[in-house]
Amino acid sequence: MAERVKVAVRVRPFNEREKKRNAKLVIDMKGNLTYISDPNNKSNKKDFAFDYSYWSHDGFKEEKNGYLSPESAAYADQKKVFDDLGKGVLENAWSGFNCSLFAYGQTGSGKSYSMVGYGNNKGIVPIVCEKLFQEIEGKREKAKDSEYQVVFSMIEIYNEQARDLLNPASFKVKGGLKVRENPTKGLFFVDGLKELPVNSYQSIESKMTEGTKNRTVASTNMNATSSRAHTVIGIKFTQKTPNASGQSMTRVSVINLVDLAGSERANSTGAEGDRLKEGASINQSLSNLGNCINALAENKKNIPFRNSALTKLLKNALGGNSKTVMIAALSPADINYDETLSTLRFADRAKSIKTKAVINESPTD
Ligand code: ADP
Ligand code: MG
Repeated sequence: MAERVKVAVRVRPFNEREKKRNAKLVIDMKGNLTYISDPNNKSNKKDFAFDYSYWSHDGFKEEKNGYLSPESAAYADQKKVFDDLGKGVLENAWSGFNCSLFAYGQTGSGKSYSMVGYGNNKGIVPIVCEKLFQEIEGKREKAKDSEYQVVFSMIEIYNEQARDLLNPASFKVKGGLKVRENPTKGLFFVDGLKELPVNSYQSIESKMTEGTKNRTVASTNMNATSSRAHTVIGIKFTQKTPNASGQSMTRVSVINLVDLAGSERANSTGAEGDRLKEGASINQSLSNLGNCINALAENKKNIPFRNSALTKLLKNALGGNSKTVMIAALSPADINYDETLSTLRFADRAKSIKTKAVINESPTD
């Protein structure tokens, strides 16, 4: 059955740069509505409706371990976001659906905070992985005739080139690893990508740390350690369980977790030279994502997935067999008004995309 992509937005606290510049708050939220006010024209207030609107701007207290917990009911902490978005990913994975979760927004808006998190403020990805292994352990004790396997991969797309973040040898491949099409399924895959079997949360965590270290980072005014690349984490979860008549069935779920590069136009971040070229290319790739989303939203026949490495890999997530969630990260500040408005518009279009997820199950061969 066709199902809409679920879209969430989340607004973060002011950062140091915004505070220094005496930034004014332009975002407001009520229920599922998010409002944005034009700092140059008070009467120009726009509203957007999303599946979830997360207020994480204020109303929190920092605990001794650094965790930001709610001081008032209005504040959405990491747990709230996991409960709404991450739990569904887990349940779908157990049911054998492919799932995709991607984060969109300008550099410094909070994409990585929601996806991966910092310190004790763990994001959706580590919590999903932690719970997945907890649940596998629980099942292993009860269902001794079942088998579970988890494999992990981490890709970066930088200037249209795919690199395997867990295989530094791949960085030397000229032009990056090839993104090829599987002729029978019409889906794209990264040729030569290492998929590593993992058997505990700790081993995923250490792979993630390793991959994160290998990412391409460059400094911009927005965020000193911002990534200028797209990161795609893949988790393939396979279950082999006997059905009612004792026949072994294999159920596979592919979970794609995508932390997109900053959506800002290069000039607004003060990028120069090489950085500008990268910015331009990142935007080209993101703008193709925008083109695909527009075409999908308008129900067009031909979706230009082939026009960039990113959209090839997101083909399933956007137009195919996947239950998909998008989280759009928002800066609260007037100085980022234009970028935030364009993020809201992007998220708004993503709402009308429909995917058709099916349970991936067949007799074990
Ligand atoms: P991005 O990945 O979009 O470039 P980050 O996730 O790294 O941005 O966030 C930039 C900064 O803002 C980080 O220091 C992060 O801790 C902070 N931040 C982002 N979102 C939140 C939030 N919801 N609550 C508290 N701090 C946040
Ligand atoms: Mg980031």
